[in-house]
Amino acid sequence: MYLTGDEIVRVARTLDTPPWTFTIAVPTADAADDAFALDHSTLRYRAALTKLPDGAERERCIFLLRLSDGTARCGLGESRPAPCRSFPSELHEGELRVSAAGCTCRDWSLDDIDVESDRALLLAESRARAEYAGLVRNWNAHVAAATVSEPFAYQDFCRFLLDQYALAR
Ligand code: SF4
Repeated sequence: MYLTGDEIVRVARTLDTPPWTFTIAVPTADAADDAFALDHSTLRYRAALTKLPDGAERERCIFLLRLSDGTARCGLGESRPAPCRSFPSELHEGELRVSAAGCTCRDWSLDDIDVESDRALLLAESRARAEYAGLVRNWNAHVAAATVSEPFAYQDFCRFLLDQYALAR
């Protein structure tokens, strides 16, 4: 799952751990406005939750806990990222819909969700995405202007986010 910078920083502060201990830079061919550069090439990356091996050819989120009774639970609880909290709700042109793509455990309907709460969460997510896109533009301009020959590391991008969101506090 791709995360916005504010969610990366919020979870890092909650856990008191650097962002690169639970997120990674995933190469993307997508011209998404949250796609960041680490060098002067056209390669772009998006920040996502780290995945761990979970049995044969399967992966799980780094925060997913497998319990002894066979069930699974998010180790972040109420601190889980906004896209996890709003799942399976989505906003389409201002209208709330249920879109549980990727979920195979059950069917979802509007009766399963808190419409007003999810709408507020998704609107806040949308504002956060716009703010993050602006920060990524600034970062990409910084990378493009850099004269160093070495590529930046994902940790450098994370430190930039930590600084920027600290300034905005
Ligand atoms: S709900 Fe928790 S375990 Fe599931 S993807 Fe989100 S952070 Fe990971």
